[in-house]
Amino acid sequence: MTKAEFPTPLPLATPALGEPYLLTPGPLTTSKATKEAMLRDWGSWDGAFNRVTAEVRQHLLHMAGVQDDSFACVPLQGSGSYSVEAALATAIPRDGKALVLMNGAYGQRATKTLEYLGRAFITLDKGDYLPPQPDEVDALLKANPDVTHVFLVHCETSSGILNPLRAIADVVKAHGKRLIIDAMSTFGAVPVTVDDIAFDVLVSSANKCIEGIPGFGFVIIRRSVLEAAKGRANSLSLDLYEQWVYMERTGQWRFTPPTHSVVAFHKALEQHANEGGVQGRLARYTRNRDVLVSGMRELGFRTLLEDCWLSPIITTFFCPEHPDFQFMRFYDELKTRQFIIYPGKLTQAESFRIGCIGQIDEYVVHQLLRAIADSLIAMGVDMRKTPD
Ligand SMILES: *Cc1c(COP(=O)(O)O)cnc(C)c1O
Repeated sequence: MTKAEFPTPLPLATPALGEPYLLTPGPLTTSKATKEAMLRDWGSWDGAFNRVTAEVRQHLLHMAGVQDDSFACVPLQGSGSYSVEAALATAIPRDGKALVLMNGAYGQRATKTLEYLGRAFITLDKGDYLPPQPDEVDALLKANPDVTHVFLVHCETSSGILNPLRAIADVVKAHGKRLIIDAMSTFGAVPVTVDDIAFDVLVSSANKCIEGIPGFGFVIIRRSVLEAAKGRANSLSLDLYEQWVYMERTGQWRFTPPTHSVVAFHKALEQHANEGGVQGRLARYTRNRDVLVSGMRELGFRTLLEDCWLSPIITTFFCPEHPDFQFMRFYDELKTRQFIIYPGKLTQAESFRIGCIGQIDEYVVHQLLRAIADSLIAMGVDMRKTPD
């Protein structure tokens, strides 16, 4: 490919001079406006900050299609896993039992969390790259009537697979069970609304598709589930019920909030709305993914997943079997060209991942493809010479 074939980058997505693009599933490249929102300090008890918190909670409920008070949004300090842990402890009674649908690291982490919490569970483990199928879930729920909750990762970020949420939600509902969704890496970019998907609990965080900075997660949870959860948590600081009660009563976070992160997120939500909300963001990420996948295939790379399971969030590519290809060298070559990619997380094959989310657009992806082509040349990797 020649330089002339690549469009010029748009000013929208250019990070500060020398700052790399983060093509990772969070933390990711944020906008200048989002970063600038952090240039002042906020009192955690102050009315102005409480208003920011209230608007953030309201905006998130709106994004989930909540129109009445049947659901609440409870933000919680920490990374996304803290919110998953708090949500599992809140939603699942101590004598409950979960079915965890696994096809990667985040499903596995949920089972580990349930072990810590002392909640019983069974699993459906599909390995690295296959989705759990609705009929498999149906059969497991028939065979295990004592299961009370089903846990599904919407996009399993360790491979990038987009799991069939709606079909599985329908099965769970038909069995009268409760659904907990880890929508960490999809919420804000793939539509999930309460009228469309029957769920009790949805968990996401600040630094994924809404393009904030790390610092907190949030749980969109059926109010009746929260109300039944007093005293259920295993941990003081991860008690979602207490966080909710305190926030409802005072407008404040129960313990020190990540003030700058919340204010940056508020700014990021404004930009999300200006981009056309969930649909606008989905359109941009999908273009990023399409340009990335077709460009990488032209360069000779193969995707882990079949096209029908590719998410617009992150894509896993196999490392080429060329003797001169080493991931760390490739990573460093790309880093000198201002792109940070992500190692793979597969149990079997050597792989790496490239994110499509954050403040990047298709022009940046074209730049990335040129950087990848240059890196391969620098490494002496000519994939056209590799036998299939
Ligand atoms: C990012 C992510 C999480 C949370 O990971 P943290 O490192 O705790 O933020 C959980 N599930 C999925 C699917 C994710 O992508």
